[in-house]
Amino acid sequence: MTAAAPTPGVSRVLVALGGNAMSAPDGSATEDDQTAALGQAAAHIADLVAEGVDVVITHGNGPQVGNLLATNEYALAIAPPASLAWCDAQTQATIGLTLMNALDGELAARGCRRPVVSLITRTLVDAEDPAFGDPVKPIGRYRPVAEARRFVGLGQTWKDYGARGWRRVVASPRPLEVLEAPTARSLADSGVVVVCAGGGGIPVVRRGARLENVEAVIDKDLASAVLAPVVGADTLILATDVEAAMIGYGGPDPERIGHVGLRRIRELEAQGHFAAGSMGPKVGAARSFVENGGRAAIITRVDLLAEAARRAVGEVGTVITAAGPAA
Ligand code: ADP
Ligand code: MG
Repeated sequence: MTAAAPTPGVSRVLVALGGNAMSAPDGSATEDDQTAALGQAAAHIADLVAEGVDVVITHGNGPQVGNLLATNEYALAIAPPASLAWCDAQTQATIGLTLMNALDGELAARGCRRPVVSLITRTLVDAEDPAFGDPVKPIGRYRPVAEARRFVGLGQTWKDYGARGWRRVVASPRPLEVLEAPTARSLADSGVVVVCAGGGGIPVVRRGARLENVEAVIDKDLASAVLAPVVGADTLILATDVEAAMIGYGGPDPERIGHVGLRRIRELEAQGHFAAGSMGPKVGAARSFVENGGRAAIITRVDLLAEAARRAVGEVGTVITAAGPAA
């Protein structure tokens, strides 16, 4: 620990980094793009750590898995394709390494001595989750129909997206438990900055005494909401590319949501203000964290994450608290 936190009440934060924290503004994800974007995110996270806040970090991996799948597809004739679970494991390793390098540098620059570690992390899902019967989450690149047919022949599900081509779809089951969460907590308790549950964690199911990988993707925001209480986080920050969630987003008169309570956010969810697959899971994850006793959940831009934790509730970002405004 360094200086006391100037962020009253905030002592341990789970920061979930979105896709834009891991790729260039145009969405491309070369090694240089990822290193640059994660370097920026690491600087903002280091600000929090240097203020004495314990930080556990999770991250997405959509563009990175997309790169690996494309590599698999092109190399099919000469190298066996990796399963989605292995792609997840590989991206946890590369993103974890990049964050470790970046955080080490940023923390040293702030005179803060905290070890950083990255965990290969599995997330338990139910083998009977209805999502397995209805794969809807698109992954990887759009491909011409002839290519798609080849992979359908290998047992994959692909969907026709019209003019853009075909894209693989997989199940997105609900995360039940992040298996490495207690380990992450022990590490955080001893002062380590922990990176874990990348890409929502590698999905596994229980078959008797054994754990088996499954071909699925887990929403990283929902996994973060499951993980946060187990690692002892009082605050959940979902770091993305918008300053706040909006009412009427994309419409003629959008309204920023600042500090908001549980009843009001449930109303706004029911009114359909948060798109499925993007802001929807973020708001759902933020709400469920607070429902389960979390102090505050914040949705904001990556570059504002430390500022949002520091400032008065709701000045920066959308901040959900149990006793927040109801209207
Ligand atoms: P991440 O990669 O950080 O998880 P997502 O793209 O999944 O980011 O989610 C953030 C996006 O959600 C925003 O860029 C915005 O386009 C979209 N979005 C959908 N509904 C809303 C809303 N009501 N308010 C703000 N953003 C919204
Ligand atoms: Mg997302």
